[in-house]
Amino acid sequence: MRFDIVTIFPKIFDSYFSESIIKRAVQNKKIRIKIWNLRNFTKNKHKKVDDKPYGGGAGMVLQVEPILRTLKSILRLRRPTSKSQKTSDVLIILLSANGKQFNQKMAGEWAMKYKNIILISGRYEGIDERIKKVIHDLGFKFQELSIGPYVLTGGEIPAMAVVDAVARHIPGVLGKSESLEEKRYGIGVPAYTRPEIFVFKNKKYKVPDVLLSGDHKKIENWRIKHKK
Ligand code: SAM
Repeated sequence: MRFDIVTIFPKIFDSYFSESIIKRAVQNKKIRIKIWNLRNFTKNKHKKVDDKPYGGGAGMVLQVEPILRTLKSILRLRRPTSKSQKTSDVLIILLSANGKQFNQKMAGEWAMKYKNIILISGRYEGIDERIKKVIHDLGFKFQELSIGPYVLTGGEIPAMAVVDAVARHIPGVLGKSESLEEKRYGIGVPAYTRPEIFVFKNKKYKVPDVLLSGDHKKIENWRIKHKK
């Protein structure tokens, strides 16, 4: 699986993607991540990618042209001789507070279905609305996607969330035991670690007895019953 992320703040991704499971997945070639700086796809010398909104209002709007140029480059459509990707293998995601809400089921399905996920991160007042029609005209699968019912400053955190959640479903990204746990119990199983009894303000907080019993069947049933 290859992830391409379009952004005007490419450095944001350095730290998150160079740690832990995602770092290991990249090193083991289970996933590839490429960050595309939108400003490299402008034709003006100031590398400007936004402009004032028609109709007035505060804030700037990201323009269609540089985004389309970036997409063409990602999809290698600019060079007619090069083989373009099979359209059904590619999903283009426009990150937007207004999009369909992302969930675990989508993450699992996309990991199996697509070879390339392209994520477009907006900023400021968002992206010129015409980008949706333009992407549609490119002929690739398209999803306007929100990671939750709130407004963030940019699409970079949502892009990281999608890469992370999808990557966890790609075979070999999680270690064998991590992967089995997640598949067996799903989301939200309560977890405990040492000490067995934690004391705070003279009150004792104990680990449930069943988890100390060593009875694997009972533990499994308890986990299934108590997952949120
Ligand atoms: N006025 C815009 C609106 O109502 O959609 C807000 C734009 S927001 C400040 C800038 C960018 O952040 C958006 O273009 C989008 O890419 C991203 N964004 C903000 N909240 C998001 C969310 N909940 N899910 C996905 N992307 C989000």
